Parts: sequence; structure tokens; C-alpha cells
Amino acid sequence: MLKVVDIFYSIQGEGAHVGVPSIFIRLYGCNLTCSFCDEFLHKGEYESLSFDEVLTRIKPYPAMNVIITGGEPSIYNLNGFIDYLQAYMYAVSVETNGYNFSNIASANWVTYSPKDWDKIEKYGYDEIKFVVSKESAVEKILEFSSYKPIFIQPQNEMDRPNKENVAFCVEFVKEHPQFILSVQLHKFLGVE
Ligand code: SF4
Repeated sequence: MLKVVDIFYSIQGEGAHVGVPSIFIRLYGCNLTCSFCDEFLHKGEYESLSFDEVLTRIKPYPAMNVIITGGEPSIYNLNGFIDYLQAYMYAVSVETNGYNFSNIASANWVTYSPKDWDKIEKYGYDEIKFVVSKESAVEKILEFSSYKPIFIQPQNEMDRPNKENVAFCVEFVKEHPQFILSVQLHKFLGVE
């Protein structure tokens, strides 16, 4: 059974797959309590759903791209569920803070967003995303290098862009072009 807070259909607004129509499955719970967490939804109520029940909910949507998010999905071993969705031809991406990469090893794509910049993992993911505000200790990430895409994403408000943080991130990537801007397109478009 999965602890599901929400299932919805939207576009991916972040990272390398920006613009891809996707089915989002938001799972309950997280191992961290970040001050800027905008995922209040994952802390409230949830439904316990079987794999078949989740499939029934996502089948009506025309897209074949599923994004498992949270909360922190990797607090659960999701490999069986990911295999199940892949057997129905879904491509499965997972968004993680890096709690346990082995719990999501079956995913087609893993987006890693480290919250502790003193301990950044090098392996286990396909793209990395740093959420940055103008107060962030960006000196800690300047030396980070990877052959995978490294995104800088402004810390936005829950339902809209934070223009000061967006402007800071634009200048930051221009000065440090090893980074790529990821703006959270859905917040500019005003969609979920
Ligand atoms: S890791 Fe993500 S979901 Fe968990 S508290 Fe931090 S921002 Fe929220």
C-alpha cells in the first residue's frame, strides 16, 4: 500500500523535463522539516492505496510520464511500485532529497535536490537541483561539478514566483555557467 496525498495531472515545471505533461503522485511524509517547504500537502491527510488503485486513478490521463514526489518518496521502498508502473509502459521519475537512493533505484529518472549542502551526494541520480534564495550560502555549491545537469532553482512562493530570488538566480547562473536555471514554470503559468 502507498500513502497517497494527491494525484494530479499537470506539466513538469522543473529541470531537464520542463514542459513534459506528467501525472504527479504525491506521497505522504518526509524525513526533514525544511523551513521553506511548500509541500504542506504532504503533511496532512493521506489515502492508503494499492498499486491497482493508483493505476485506476492515473489511467484516465493521456500522458505516460509519472512523477513521484512528496514529501520524500525514498522513505519508502518504491522499487516494486515503479516496476509495476513500468510494466504498464509508464516512464517513472522520482524527486528526492537523497534520503535513500536504493529505494528508488528502478526509476527511469531521479531528480536530486540536496538540502544539506555540506553533504552532497555524487551518484544515484540523473539531475541535481539546488533550491536557492538570495540568502543562500551559494559559496558551498560553487565547487560542485558533475557531468549531469546541475540546476539552480529560485526559492519561490507556494503559488507564485519570488521575483527577487528569480533575479538573484538569473545573475548567479550568468556568472557561473556550469549551472542551468530551472524556474518552476508551473508557478509562472499559474498551474498546479
Ligand atoms: S525535503 Fe522537501 S518535502 Fe521534505 S521538508 Fe524539505 S522541502 Fe519539504
